Amino acid sequence: MSLYCFGNARTPEQLADMRELDAAGICLFCPDGLRRHARQQILFATGHWTVTPNEFPYPGTALHLLLVPREHAADLLDLSAAAQADFWHVLGQVRERHGLGHYGLGVRNGDCRYTGATIRHVHAHVLVGDPAAGNETPVRMRFSSRPGREA
Ligand SMILES: [Zn+2]
Repeated sequence: MSLYCFGNARTPEQLADMRELDAAGICLFCPDGLRRHARQQILFATGHWTVTPNEFPYPGTALHLLLVPREHAADLLDLSAAAQADFWHVLGQVRERHGLGHYGLGVRNGDCRYTGATIRHVHAHVLVGDPAAGNETPVRMRFSSRPGREA
């Protein structure tokens, strides 16, 4: 099984990245992958989680962060109890460090062929809309597959 769900890539650049990483057997979100992939900037880390900006932010976002657990699992509920508990700690750190008064939180769990995710390593999206974009660009997150597209 591939580490990635190619059918859910949003841009040709992202798809090319995913194919390259998959061919090399690198999970971008496992600790070695995060370190080796130079463009993936690490903002801070807790005992079990790393926080990084989304390399491909959603349209209309002023802030789009990814919270990535060190453990390789496809579902938040398959993480160790310690990593699950630390999730609330890292989320609190994100809110505090970025002074967030509002934000969206999105997580796709399980088989990425059906959730719209691009990678089989669970991660949480913290999304803040850009007020300057107004209602013209509402922030949207997809939670389903694209029927007929390559998984
Ligand atoms: Zn992984």
